[in-house]
Amino acid sequence: MTALLQMHDVSASYGSIQALFGINLAIGARQVVTLLGRNGMGKSTIIKTVCGMLAPTSGTVRFMDRDVTAMPSYRIARLGLGLVPEGRRIFPNLTVRENLVATMGLGNGTAKTNTWSLEDVFELFPRLAERLDNGGNQLSGGEQQMLAIGRALLTNPTLLVFDEATEGLAPLVRNEIWSCIEKLKSRGQAILLIDKNIEHLLRLADRHYVIEKGRVAWEGSTGDLRDAPHVMSEFLSV
Ligand code: ATP
Repeated sequence: MTALLQMHDVSASYGSIQALFGINLAIGARQVVTLLGRNGMGKSTIIKTVCGMLAPTSGTVRFMDRDVTAMPSYRIARLGLGLVPEGRRIFPNLTVRENLVATMGLGNGTAKTNTWSLEDVFELFPRLAERLDNGGNQLSGGEQQMLAIGRALLTNPTLLVFDEATEGLAPLVRNEIWSCIEKLKSRGQAILLIDKNIEHLLRLADRHYVIEKGRVAWEGSTGDLRDAPHVMSEFLSV
């Protein structure tokens, strides 16, 4: 497998507190991969090191055949890494249209067979087309999440990263987000996902990394995970 993303022996700290201890991880083209584990185990920290928001203290992160370990976030984004961040972080004072246009063309479009237009985003989320001139702060939580996803897609990401995309949403809206992720998967989009909804993850994802106290405690395919109830009970409280 040619990896799009590869973490090799990555450690990271917040000041004097070490949060990651020698993480090894790889994601290939078209793969959907999850980071699983209880709260505070290091999943978001892994994403921060991948996106250039937290510099590892040791180890290397490679993305698209480049060493991105010490690269600033905007350059990693340009290489084709799209982030749907925890808490959505849309621009509240810009309209939906302005939020979307703000990120267009920021990516490099390395995913040449998977380029996104505004129309494609509206096809995925018709609700956004209806709300084009509304301010970001006038949207419901679900609409904000759709906007955050649309914004990431318009950078034409080679790898799309979701940090708790369904968190805090009503069940119906959650289902819309899951069906969006499913459509992206069927388009061949490579995806890295953190989410608490294990049932959906088991249905959608190819591979899983279970993170426990800053280390990879278990890794394997969805089939392997289904056959490993002890992993679920020991590390995931399922
Ligand atoms: P959650 O599901 O709660 O987001 P997580 O698995 O994503 O959990 P992280 O947010 O990566 O966990 O946190 C890993 C560890 O790093 C935790 O002990 C957390 O308290 C600590 N941590 C996270 N962010 C910071 C920060 N900005 N400063 C100091 N410590 C932090």
